[in-house]
Amino acid sequence: MDFHLTQEQTAFQDTVRKFAKRHLTDKALQRAHNTTYPMEVAELMADQGLFGITIAEIDGGQGGALTDAVIAIQAVAEVCPRSADVIQAGNFGPVRVLAEYGTDDQKRRYLSKLLTGRSVIAVAMTEPDAGSAVTDLRTSATPDGEGFRINGSKVFTTHGSVADVLLTYVRYGPGIDGIGSVLIERGMDGFTIGKPVRFLSGEEWAQLYFDDVYVGPENVLLEENGFRKQIAGFNVERIGNAARALALGQHAFNIARDHAQTRKQFGRLLCEFQGLQWKFADMKIKLDAAELLLYRAASNADEDFSDSAETSIAKAYCNETGFSVASEAMQIMGGAGYSQDNLVEYCFRRTRGWMIAGGSVEVMKNRIAEDVFDRRFPQRPPSTP
Ligand SMILES: Cc1cc2nc3c(=O)[nH]c(=O)nc-3n(C[C@H](O)[C@H](O)[C@H](O)COP(=O)(O)OP(=O)(O)OC[C@H]3O[C@@H](n4cnc5c(N)ncnc54)[C@H](O)[C@@H]3O)c2cc1C
Repeated sequence: MDFHLTQEQTAFQDTVRKFAKRHLTDKALQRAHNTTYPMEVAELMADQGLFGITIAEIDGGQGGALTDAVIAIQAVAEVCPRSADVIQAGNFGPVRVLAEYGTDDQKRRYLSKLLTGRSVIAVAMTEPDAGSAVTDLRTSATPDGEGFRINGSKVFTTHGSVADVLLTYVRYGPGIDGIGSVLIERGMDGFTIGKPVRFLSGEEWAQLYFDDVYVGPENVLLEENGFRKQIAGFNVERIGNAARALALGQHAFNIARDHAQTRKQFGRLLCEFQGLQWKFADMKIKLDAAELLLYRAASNADEDFSDSAETSIAKAYCNETGFSVASEAMQIMGGAGYSQDNLVEYCFRRTRGWMIAGGSVEVMKNRIAEDVFDRRFPQRPPSTP
């Protein structure tokens, strides 16, 4: 057991830190308040080799490890919290599912462009009546010639209104086994995007409508029985979600620590008040514990021991830690922390969302409880005879 990063990981971390300091320091605050995806950052990062870190070289990626992608999120978020989302988009979630399960033709048409940072993919899973109970999704794929007609609607899709392609969960037939996914392009006939709505974080989402959208066989990603594969991919998305929650908590902590060493009240520096020292000690304990849980989940996934309970533990704890640390940092900063000329309030708003997104903290805890008791706890009411 070794709790240190390897030499290669440390060198990689240094490189990403230098890149972030050089290119992302300016406008970090502006990016946090901008509702749209920072495309110019994506291009820079892709050119720097920060996209497709975990994707095989043969598919245009870097052939690295999930832990490297986590390190990249942390190193970028130290400087520019909003830009950590770009590392997420280029490495976790739908881009990785596409690399894992896409055909050569799909990778050629979509993946190669996504890895240049000049194109965006989103995952459209949640529906108005299928949130935590995602397997209740109703968006249907009905056979039509060689392809399918897609009908239904999605909500809360991150980057849904800017994405060029949407990895869309659909239902080919009843039950979990009936679920798979297709790739829907912006501009396809019958695909419309509703009015933008803002999350607390400032990010925009819009309802997506599919009205008889024709998807040819070349855009079917996973057929029936695809759900379990998709959720395995989603497990990795959760590691990116957890990494950002932790990294933004750390960002807020760093600002508050600097503030406490310069701000004086009652003729003393804030860091000299024991009441605040203990807050810092509690925050530090939580941040360190969360990082250990996150690294365990990522590094075991790298070793092919991907364990959804470990991921759930990491996600739930990083989500709660990121938010509680950002909240304490705000308290320590007083009015300055609550103000929008400072990134602490952004970290506070943003970390709140990750307790809901990507499998809520409660849903993660349901999974952890199953691991504790080594049995399944069905969430649905018993069926009536
Ligand atoms: C910032 C953000 C980004 C998102 N990005 C995407 C995206 O890119 N693509 C996408 O498809 N979706 C996305 N979502 C949607 C997200 O996955 C859902 O919001 C989430 O799954 C919860 O579903 P819901 O909002 O419908 O809440 P509900 O499922 O209605 O849950 C409401 C509350 O009940 C709790 N709850 C529900 N079931 C149980 C249970 N069995 N046991 C205990 N508690 C339970 C939940 O934890 C929650 O607190 C995003 C959401 C947010 C907030």
